[in-house]
Amino acid sequence: MGVFDPIIELSKGLGEVLRSFLFEPTVTVQYPEEKRTVRPRFRGRHVLKRYDNGLEKCIGCSLCAAACPADAIFVEASENTDEKRFSPGQRYASTYEINMLRCIYCGFCEDACPTEAIVLGDNYELSFTDRRDAIYTKDSLLESVPSGDMLTPRKVDVGVFVRSVPEMKDPTD
Ligand code: SF4
Ligand code: SF4
Repeated sequence: MGVFDPIIELSKGLGEVLRSFLFEPTVTVQYPEEKRTVRPRFRGRHVLKRYDNGLEKCIGCSLCAAACPADAIFVEASENTDEKRFSPGQRYASTYEINMLRCIYCGFCEDACPTEAIVLGDNYELSFTDRRDAIYTKDSLLESVPSGDMLTPRKVDVGVFVRSVPEMKDPTD
């Protein structure tokens, strides 16, 4: 190595920095004021979905908990009545918890769910400073309703919501 080689290499590096500074668009995102749009298949914080009529999609079947390789999900089911209905069918999840310290965002819970109730959304803001805050409860996971009359539980017409799993137009979708 010649005596000027390090200076030449250093100049090349500085030239590259100067070139990108002057001619390339800025890619820094000013988080949290600006948020980057995530990819369509991004797996972020879970959401418990509702139907358009406000009823909860989760029927408390625990298939998500059985599929979870990290044993992160706890579900407890209770009985629906038409006087006090949370979800279509016989049962609903009276307790639904995910331990986010265990979750590895594999998406197996989403795949196992027969009603497409649990979905990994696009929210990546998951920090907490207390271990107890890592247990996400049903209240924090359940999506909100568009209007107050769609809240659950609510009274519904007798015998209308008997089917737990909706008919799928195309089960291969
Ligand atoms: S994403 Fe995977 S690890 Fe996380 S709760 Fe679902 S199944 Fe469990
Ligand atoms: S989220 Fe889906 S799989 Fe899990 S308990 Fe509810 S309905 Fe069953």
